Parts: sequence; C-alpha cells; structure tokens
Amino acid sequence: MLGRAARLWETGLLCLAILFLPFPARAWLGEFTIRDELELARKFDLVIETRFPVVHDSVITGYVQSLVDRLVAVMPPQPFPIKVTVVRNGALNAFASAAGHVTIFTGLIANLDGEDELASVIAHELAHVSERHIARSIEKSQFIGAGSLLGILAGVLIGSQVSSESGDALAIGAVAGSQSLQLKYTRENEKDADQFGLEYLVKAGFSPAGTTRAFEKIRKLQWLGGGGSVPSYLTTHPGLDDRLGYMQERISRLSQGVHQQPTDNREFYKVRTLVHAWFSDANTANAVFSSSASTACLSKLGDAIALSRLHQVEEARARFHEALACNPGDPLWKREYGRFAFEYGELSTAVEALQEAVLKNPADLFALFFYARAVAEQGNFGASIAAMEKVAKSVPRDAEVQENLGRYHAAMGNQFDGHLHFARAFAYKRQFTKYTFHLQKAEALAVRTDQQAKLRALRDEIAEYREILGI
Ligand SMILES: [Zn+2]
Repeated sequence: MLGRAARLWETGLLCLAILFLPFPARAWLGEFTIRDELELARKFDLVIETRFPVVHDSVITGYVQSLVDRLVAVMPPQPFPIKVTVVRNGALNAFASAAGHVTIFTGLIANLDGEDELASVIAHELAHVSERHIARSIEKSQFIGAGSLLGILAGVLIGSQVSSESGDALAIGAVAGSQSLQLKYTRENEKDADQFGLEYLVKAGFSPAGTTRAFEKIRKLQWLGGGGSVPSYLTTHPGLDDRLGYMQERISRLSQGVHQQPTDNREFYKVRTLVHAWFSDANTANAVFSSSASTACLSKLGDAIALSRLHQVEEARARFHEALACNPGDPLWKREYGRFAFEYGELSTAVEALQEAVLKNPADLFALFFYARAVAEQGNFGASIAAMEKVAKSVPRDAEVQENLGRYHAAMGNQFDGHLHFARAFAYKRQFTKYTFHLQKAEALAVRTDQQAKLRALRDEIAEYREILGI
C-alpha cells in the first residue's frame, strides 16, 4: 500500500513538473492539426514510457493490441495508426489521449470478467478517437500551450483525483492545474462514443452483452467506497445510470444473431491471471489462486508466480511442476518457470525452459529478456547480445535492458558499444553525470563514421528527452 501511495504521489509531482515545462508559449488558435496531434502524442508517449510503470509483458500488451486490431478493422479509416499502452495501475481506467493512442490500466483487466467486457471499454475509447473528440475539444479550448496540454494528458494518470461527470480520465483537465481549461468530453461526446463503440464492438464480432456487464461492474465497484483502487470519478458519476439504461435499450433491439456472437475467454483469463499474479498484492494473489475453488491449471500457474513473489521457493517449485504437468506445451508456462529458475539460480533449468519459450513464441519480450540474462550468466555473450538487442528494439528506453547490453558488450571487449549502452541506461535513469562520463568515454573511442553517427543519434535522443521532461 505504501508503494502505491508513493507512486501516486510521484505521479502528482510529475504533473506539476510538466505543467511548468519551458515550452514555447504557443497557442492553438482554433486549429489543432494532425501534425500537431502526432507531435503531441510522440511527446506524451515519451513521458509515459520513461516515467510511468508501463507494462512490457508482450503476452499482456499483445493481447490488448489484438482486441484493438479487431475493432480498428471495422472502424472507418483513421489518420493515425492506433497504438495501445498498458500501464500498471489498480484503477479501472482507460482513455484515448491524442493521435489514436489508447492507454489501458491493469486495474481494468483485473476487475472485468470477460473479453467482451474489456473489448466494450476499448471500443468506447476508440469511438472517441474515430469521432476525433479529443482534437475537437482541444480546438475549443483555445490558448492552451503545448506544455500544459501535455500536463493534462499526463495528469490523466492521477486516476484517484478525478472528479467529473464524464467517464473518461481526459476530463480531468481542471485537476491538472489550469483553472480556465475546459478540455473535456461533453455528454454528447459520451453518448456518441457509447453508440459508435457498440457499433464497432458488434461489427468486430464481440458479444454486445459485455457492454452492460462492464458498465454494471464499474457502477457496482463505485459502491465499494473506492478503496484506493477505484478512482473517485467513478464514485461521482451521475451520467452512468442514464447511459446504462440507454445502452441496455439499444442492445435489446439488436438482432438475435448478434446476441449469440460467441466469446472465447481463454486468452483473457490467461492475461488476467498474469495481471493478478504479478501486479496485485502477492499474499492476496496466493490466497485467491490457492483456494479450493481454483483448481484449474491456470490458477496453478498464478499460484506458483504468487508463491515465487513471496520467496516460498519450495512451494513455488512444487506448484510450477503441477502447472507444467497440466499444460506442458504452453510457452507462457515455460517462460514463467524459466524466470523462477533464473531468479533462484538454477541456470541450466532456466536456459532450457526459456529457450523453449522463445522458440515457441519469438514475440515474447520477457522470455527473450530472461533468456538473454540466463545465457550471459553461462558466459555466452554473443547469444545474450543477439536476444537483448531484439528486446531493445521494442523498448529502447528501458534502462535495465540498456545496462545489460552495456555489460555484455564490455565483457566481449566492445568498449565503444559498452559505453554507448551505459550512457543511454544512465540517461534514462536520470543520472546525467554518469551519462556524460560514459558518453565521453565512447566519444574518445569513436574512430569509425558509423560510431560517430551512433553518438550523434544518442546525443540528439537524450537532448530531446531532457527538453520534453524539463530535466
Ligand atoms: Zn468516454
């Protein structure tokens, strides 16, 4: 709990910091162009990626993206590629920011019970995107500088401070600190998003029943008093009852065939198990997964993960073996067992399990990350660099990934690449004295033109990062 409070507090600080960034005091006088929107989204992404607990587990993110892709396929053509980010946060929240970027909180996945429910919330957010509600709202709110706008968007992450009649976190513009700001969705926007969202949901083949169940869950959870995991904007939400009634009525008028659209929840349950096992309190997760009602193979995996987080090594190992026995072919099971074995020093077991996980699911970044670390421990730096480079391509600003790459290159005698990666790692840890130290070392070693080009790219990348974050 302390950790959670501390995180929220840090988020608050970040918001304030962003609001006072030295952005050019430019105002949009009524026109928020697509170019403006792309630029804003790029900066927003950088803030989110480097300052918030973004989930990099591609089993989770890949699943959410697959729901987005299904929905996008039936939407009108969009000027931007739709991008989804999952953030580790217990609040039931999802929001569209700018340029087709949608953020989903893990709390939403944790508290919903089926794929159609999650898809209905995403469809609603995508409808705000397709109707360009954000850009329209920005156009209406004249005289907003880019700095404060970025602050508002980052401010949506303070879910617990939101107080608004709108169901979307974007509406907390006022919370982000600017008194005269009216950046929020109107009731008409919400009605449109509900309506178009339902249309996309049904066209994409999801069951429409998920919509009302998701609404009802959000409404029910608000009566639990928040409890820290439900943002207050859901507790003061007069529009929700109206919207629920209206949507129930619309859904009842849909054809019988639509109502019978099947839901396959297997991937959803897998992803929700990962979210519970890794991101909720380990004792609670252990209690839930080990209860007599949860004898399914997935619960065994979840319990094994929870036990390993509690450092109950022998119990965890036994539970992993039970889980592997009931689902031996799934690369996720292998990955989690490999992570566990690596953490507790069983190197050859770890390499074997992780290698299988990587071969079966080459897109699994976590499997690759732990495989790279495990083979590095065995002294095979060539293989570890190859695997870690693949991870770095997807998450270039992850300090841990860069630091590991620096270490492997140094061990192989590639001093230039070693310092280059260490420099990037320290920059993203915001340790700029160390960043400069390694940058200078790399500069002294750069003899080839491609090395000089790499250095120039790094200097530009870090200069922009520092400018955007004001550090
Ligand atoms: Zn909305």
